[in-house]
Amino acid sequence: MSDSFAPRSDGQPVVLEHSRAPENMAADKVRCEACPVLCQISRGKLGACDRYGNVDGVLTRLDTLHLVARPGIDLVPWQAARDGAWDGSLVAASGRDAPVFVSGIGSGTTYPDYKPAPFIVASQHTGVDLVTVVTEGIFSYCSFKVKIDTDRYLGPEQATVRHRGEAVGHVSTIEYGSQFLALGGVHHLTGGSKKEGRIACEMMMALGNKQSVELEIEGGARVVVAADKPPIVDGVEEQRMRVGCGSATIGIFAQQWAGHVDEVVVVDDHITGVLSEHQAGKFLDMAPSGIRVRGRKSTPGRYFQVANPGSGWGGTDITDPLAIVESWESEHGARPGLRLLMVSTTGEDSAWFVLDDDLVPRPAEMPRAVRRVVERIGENCEPSLCSVLYVAGAGGSLRAGVTENPVALTRSIKSLLVNVTCGGAPVYVWPGGGITVMVDVAKMPANSFGSVPTPAIVSPIEFTMQRDDYRALGGHMDRVRRLDDVVAAGGWRVIEAEPGVPWPLRTSTGGGR
Ligand code: SF4
Repeated sequence: MSDSFAPRSDGQPVVLEHSRAPENMAADKVRCEACPVLCQISRGKLGACDRYGNVDGVLTRLDTLHLVARPGIDLVPWQAARDGAWDGSLVAASGRDAPVFVSGIGSGTTYPDYKPAPFIVASQHTGVDLVTVVTEGIFSYCSFKVKIDTDRYLGPEQATVRHRGEAVGHVSTIEYGSQFLALGGVHHLTGGSKKEGRIACEMMMALGNKQSVELEIEGGARVVVAADKPPIVDGVEEQRMRVGCGSATIGIFAQQWAGHVDEVVVVDDHITGVLSEHQAGKFLDMAPSGIRVRGRKSTPGRYFQVANPGSGWGGTDITDPLAIVESWESEHGARPGLRLLMVSTTGEDSAWFVLDDDLVPRPAEMPRAVRRVVERIGENCEPSLCSVLYVAGAGGSLRAGVTENPVALTRSIKSLLVNVTCGGAPVYVWPGGGITVMVDVAKMPANSFGSVPTPAIVSPIEFTMQRDDYRALGGHMDRVRRLDDVVAAGGWRVIEAEPGVPWPLRTSTGGGR
């Protein structure tokens, strides 16, 4: 590794937490300036965020710095060495490539960023000299986008979402088989009452830390969500994500029903499908069945609004599927003995009927061949999960902790010279202005999120780039420390990345080149 940028090697933190006592402050207190709350902390006590404390008269960051292990390294000697004085030999023993990635978790904050980031670390990957700027950002402008895989009706679009009685978000759009919620955000953190801000912040921190959060949707359901866990809607854990809308389900399975049925109705709150009228049924030369389904006909075999939304069949409020059948018309093909399957889009609900001489559908035992296709609908449903994505704007003062020319960082990220990660997890950087990142919290290490009582969310963020690019964007070169010196200074612990997370330094050596 080249030393031309003179990383520090004295084993000391580059950025000591700033603590300057105001004149009237008691002598045994320390003042934390890591966020605008400016806590004055008595000896042996914690600051308002529980992240800093007064330890023997010294302001101390209480969480340990989290180092993410490179896949395949032997963790045993690292765990054994973490608490003792140690010269960083494990880094050297691992060869020239960094065996660990310094994440922002536990790194400390520098908000507003009138000083360089707490860790600016030199390391190497595949022979390339890299610099990673590491910090915990304090974000007022941040939110969570939650995708809930369910057909159940959660509430009307734009409805207010509450947590412990306070407004914390709203219902967003429905995508294919999933309801989206927009939770948190600056409007709830700072634009309402103090209590609303506090509750919203607590809810956001819990969501980010993969904990369960109970939400109440105005005019809709109570739902419990947690990252990568099934949603619980009105006390019932969701199992299956639907295979498609009613029309899509008809299209997928029409061939398999052919010859075994005279009519299939796939009940769906959005688009209910009727096989004999649908293009898929026409393709199979199915005879008309004379069925008249409630709702608004969109195109042949596709009906909207057959019932109200709810927690019944296919996300409707019905529990008796025949409730959506208006009539049977003999002049249009209805006939005694006609075989009818009614099924939901997950296959969880199904019923088999045969028309009697008066054209009244009578329940009957479902033939095995038809049952097999119903089971196949279920087999094709993916498990229902909640996906929790964190969105944060890092395009403000946080950039000053990276460079003296902030727009250079923004431009370098847009031109893929800089790899942005959150706790080592890959992020999506939104196009357009600013640095708006989005990350799947399930890919982030446990307990990555904290908060301060401003209120705002604290979350890790790292910017990794080649050494020469860091110099070119006006980086704080005099603050760069070698990885082995960071390790030798102690106060860290090594964690494993979540499964499937790419090694963050790998993506920094080739991306965009
Ligand atoms: S809330 Fe936490 S970070 Fe902010 S000043 Fe108090 S101790 Fe420091």
